[in-house]
Amino acid sequence: MIRYALRCDKGHDFDSWFRSASGSDTLLAGGQVSCVVCGSTQIAKAPMAPAVPVRAAADGPQPLDAPASAAERRLAALRAHVERTSDYVGDAFAAEARDMHDGVKPERPIHGEARLEEARKLLEDGIPVAPLPFGARRKMH
Ligand SMILES: [Zn+2]
Repeated sequence: MIRYALRCDKGHDFDSWFRSASGSDTLLAGGQVSCVVCGSTQIAKAPMAPAVPVRAAADGPQPLDAPASAAERRLAALRAHVERTSDYVGDAFAAEARDMHDGVKPERPIHGEARLEEARKLLEDGIPVAPLPFGARRKMH
């Protein structure tokens, strides 16, 4: 998200948020931004350094589908990959991982929640588990 100071052809100053610098140019050139005071669509960027918030800014609207930072986008992509390619087993994670390791159940990729103590025990027994950098999203069945 980038905030630009804008000025209409009547000299009214106001701010607007855009998803990207190129997106703002497209919207301005297409007359899709109008002055909050007089409604003019002859809008130009006022000279000002754009403000790029690290997290969701409290003082501007946010598109709901746009993660705030590159790090959050990478995390969202990783999460989507994990959720797409493995089964969510919730609190049964430790038991499921152990059963697969012991050959009780066929192996498949899973993710879920385990207490620290459970995860440590799995690793001690040579069962490969790794922490995910996000909390699992509980799915409704
Ligand atoms: Zn105006």
